[in-house]
Amino acid sequence: RLHEGELVRRKLHNTILELKGNVRVFCRVRPLMPDEDDNGGTEPIVQYPNSTELMGRGIELVQSQGQKHTFTFDKVFGPEVMQEDVFVEISQLVQSALDGYKVCIFAYGQTGSGKTHTMLGNQDRPEQRGVIPRSLEQIFKTSQALSSTGWSFRMQASMLEIYNETIRDLLARPGNGNGNENGTPAKQHIVKHDLNGNTIVSDLTLVEVSNWKEVASLLQRAAQSRSVGKTAMNEQSSRSHCVFTLRISGVNESTEQQVHGVLNLIDLAGSERLSRSCSTGDRLKETQAINKSLSSLGDVILAIGNKEQHIPYRNSKLTYLLQPCLGGDSKTLMFVNISPDSKSLNESLCSLRFAAKVNACEIGVPRRQTLGSRNADSRLRKNGSYIEGSLPE
Ligand code: ADP
Ligand code: MG
Repeated sequence: RLHEGELVRRKLHNTILELKGNVRVFCRVRPLMPDEDDNGGTEPIVQYPNSTELMGRGIELVQSQGQKHTFTFDKVFGPEVMQEDVFVEISQLVQSALDGYKVCIFAYGQTGSGKTHTMLGNQDRPEQRGVIPRSLEQIFKTSQALSSTGWSFRMQASMLEIYNETIRDLLARPGNGNGNENGTPAKQHIVKHDLNGNTIVSDLTLVEVSNWKEVASLLQRAAQSRSVGKTAMNEQSSRSHCVFTLRISGVNESTEQQVHGVLNLIDLAGSERLSRSCSTGDRLKETQAINKSLSSLGDVILAIGNKEQHIPYRNSKLTYLLQPCLGGDSKTLMFVNISPDSKSLNESLCSLRFAAKVNACEIGVPRRQTLGSRNADSRLRKNGSYIEGSLPE
């Protein structure tokens, strides 16, 4: 039997963990492009309240009438923050996949807001590499270092795209799997979960990898496969989710310990498809017809945070695919990418509202019932500005 003090200590520890939760939301604002306008130097549309440095927790959007919308996230990265500094903030999370955790890192935002820059970055410029290359380099490096203590790891990579609720294998060899002009139909990929909580996607290409070079060539293959699709690449990539998955199995020869971790790195479809419903203040649930999977992802994370009995994983391919990696003791990070261009103000507001909902649920703040209600909105707006999502300190 446990000592009473030990019981109290464990209970406290669990409570702290519960309060901290396993969902983090980081906001990242990209730099202004030469042909864009941030509304002049006096009152730019994106501001950083209470931040002396551009890596704080608050972000404010300023509308033309001076109305302000303030949000707080676990981290806010301003336009000057470099890829390297972003990675410092997530490297521990990435590392936990080697300890046997299931990890999902998402990039959410409208097309052109910097999702692909954040996740993939520019491969030709070392300082511009994004989360995917940096994560894999770190994992390979650490796994090699661990070999001196008896650990050996097996890593398998896969890459797929979800377009119109259909899975496409981005690593399938040409003519094998994705159909072709000669009338060969594309393979249907069925998602299943085994009893150990592993996701199995039928006919999906899994590639053993042990160094970055091998992964780089996979990314290249995937990029080619993406651009071969009938729709223009930009159009297609803004409408599809791209999911990179690394499955990690480790075994220690001396202790016979085993770990099974998964790292999912997801470049989501452009969120602009959610905007119509957002701008009229509808609830997430009601937007499903517009983009089933983005809103389903929001619903799933909300339901997990609210500890609801029923988590609606089955409402979309994306959430069903990632089911074992969302909830439980798995870890989730969402980047919400924002453009500072004044033309993007409404989209940015929608993205921040979505992210604030995802954020607020997790740390035990009840889901705001009033966000979509006109009465509450106008009441709050009388003060000129209002807090839409905030974390207790
Ligand atoms: P998305 O994938 O969301 O559609 P991209 O990642 O393609 O957006 O970004 C749009 C453009 O902005 C690209 O030219 C990209 O290189 C640039 N960009 C995005 N974020 C940054 C950043 N933090 N620093 C510099 N350039 C960026
Ligand atoms: Mg992109």
